[in-house]
Amino acid sequence: MQNSALYIHVPFCAHKCIYCDFYSIITPGKENDFIAVLEQEIQYYSVLYGKSHHFDTIFFGGGTPSLLTPAQIERILTSLHSAFSISSQPEITLESNPGTLSNEKLRGFRAAGVNRLSIGIQSFQERDLEFLTRIHSAEQAGTAVLEATRAGFDNINIDLIFNLPGQTSDLWLENLETAVNLPVNHISAYSLILEHGTILNKLVLDGKVTMQDTDYDADLYEITIEYLARHGYTQYEVSNFCKPGFECKHNNHYWHYDDYLSFGPSAHSFVHNTRWHNYTALSQYHAAILRVGHAQAGSEKITPAMAAEEYIMLALRSNGLDTHIFSQKFGAELLNTNKALFSQLLHEGFISKQGDILRLTPKGYAVCDEILERLQ
Ligand code: SF4
Repeated sequence: MQNSALYIHVPFCAHKCIYCDFYSIITPGKENDFIAVLEQEIQYYSVLYGKSHHFDTIFFGGGTPSLLTPAQIERILTSLHSAFSISSQPEITLESNPGTLSNEKLRGFRAAGVNRLSIGIQSFQERDLEFLTRIHSAEQAGTAVLEATRAGFDNINIDLIFNLPGQTSDLWLENLETAVNLPVNHISAYSLILEHGTILNKLVLDGKVTMQDTDYDADLYEITIEYLARHGYTQYEVSNFCKPGFECKHNNHYWHYDDYLSFGPSAHSFVHNTRWHNYTALSQYHAAILRVGHAQAGSEKITPAMAAEEYIMLALRSNGLDTHIFSQKFGAELLNTNKALFSQLLHEGFISKQGDILRLTPKGYAVCDEILERLQ
């Protein structure tokens, strides 16, 4: 049986950062009610998929899952383990904010079974953190990594954001240098994106903040790829880099087009070629589960043609497209349609070919979205 992924969306944050469009609320005191409802949702899907699927990754995202206590994380893990078939050593990731971590909490998360910590650092520079309205200082960012190591975490990711207003390439390189000198084996580096509905978007529209231009963004991205490669981090997805053996298994499930089952407000699932999403607002999510046991707000059946196209896009954005496996799954028609494009991309150095695998080169990753748009 193929392995699948479990995801829990924890919808709480201590504060809303100006650039963020993930669903979360900042009202404290609702955690236990949320977990009680979440357990009902887990039970509902246990009846449907408890026997048909086997899971080897669990990911706590959000929001800020590290706002929960280790006992609350353990309670959710116990529910998942009793509801589903889960491998004996699953990868269990918890997203965290340095401003919510302490020695005791980190040891508690590790003891509860969390074995991969993802720390939302974003920058090691005070000026950037103030601009992003993060709740932690630059010092807390570095300390969180070292304390996590002392608490027993040997699989640590950090998130960083580049192309912040006023960020020079030297300042960005300083961030990367600090990162590679810490015991982190996975780095997710994203450029600052202006999302609708965020405070940052309003500040830009009001002329109070000016974003840096996209050419500069591309320059910083190329610097990132080159710098991290020189320091032993392999790029295995557009925004993700890791030391050998430390790819995120959970995210690989998404990129390899495997099934994933997600819980919590705004969570998206993909099972047996059907995709569905939950209500976004916690109150709606809560009411729906009490009413019918699940919180699906909409669903979509993925046709074989849609699946083939999505598979190619996800594969090219990550570890590469195995044309042999693709043909077995979907037939060769879509590959034949795009044969001339692939030859051109190969000739121009945007993709490389090793055996059956077509992979974006660093030059290709830099224009990934444009390449994917050209696929027919
Ligand atoms: S802590 Fe993370 S999830 Fe919460 S508002 Fe900030 S960026 Fe968004």
